[in-house]
Amino acid sequence: MSSGQPFATALADLLGRIEHARAAAVQPAPSTTLVAVSKTHPAERILPILDAGHRVFAESRVQEARVKWGPLLSAYRGVELHLIGPLQTNKVRDAVRLFDVIESLDRPKLAEALKEEFSSHDRQPDLFIQVNTGNEPQKAGVAIQDVPDFISFCRDHLALPVRGLMCIPPLNQPAAPHFALLQKLAREARLPLLSMGMSGDFEAAIKFGATHVRIGSALFGARDA
Ligand SMILES: *Cc1c(COP(=O)(O)O)cnc(C)c1O
Repeated sequence: MSSGQPFATALADLLGRIEHARAAAVQPAPSTTLVAVSKTHPAERILPILDAGHRVFAESRVQEARVKWGPLLSAYRGVELHLIGPLQTNKVRDAVRLFDVIESLDRPKLAEALKEEFSSHDRQPDLFIQVNTGNEPQKAGVAIQDVPDFISFCRDHLALPVRGLMCIPPLNQPAAPHFALLQKLAREARLPLLSMGMSGDFEAAIKFGATHVRIGSALFGARDA
């Protein structure tokens, strides 16, 4: 595994599949960005993707991202890093320093902590609100019925830069109804961005207007952890 060629080829294949799905969709989003989910994968696997010109990546954990991406961000210009995992309020400072987009805004306390942190920074990452479209008790995300109020709290009351919605559908259900629901909620709130679709279901997400697909294993292979 010394050569990065397989990863560069996987990237080209994946971008082709995304284009295909967009071409087949009746009403795709104006653009669909591949967010390459590099969590658990070492820098050696990320480098070939960077060298192939890709710049949008996501990580689940602040600490892992800081250690891994510190050197990569110094070496490569124009990287856009997304946080897609749960964010503890005591990690907000580190997260705001490192990430360009935080996709896991899911509770008032976190919204207030972000607001507070933004006031002492030039940096202000774009935000997605995570919606628990399956209303699963163990899963992060705002409950469906609370979404309009929470958007209004974040965007109108706190003036946070909320750009879109994000969801992770339940594992054991067809994903399409969840994508349809997220699209409807975003439309009603006039939010332009939709982060939905992973390795197994991004083509369906594109049908429902995904602007961002978060793809890990289809690009980097299976995760050990
Ligand atoms: C890990 C992860 C992904 C990527 O999942 P794959 O199935 O490997 O593509 C996408 N979104 C979130 C929130 C994740 O935690």
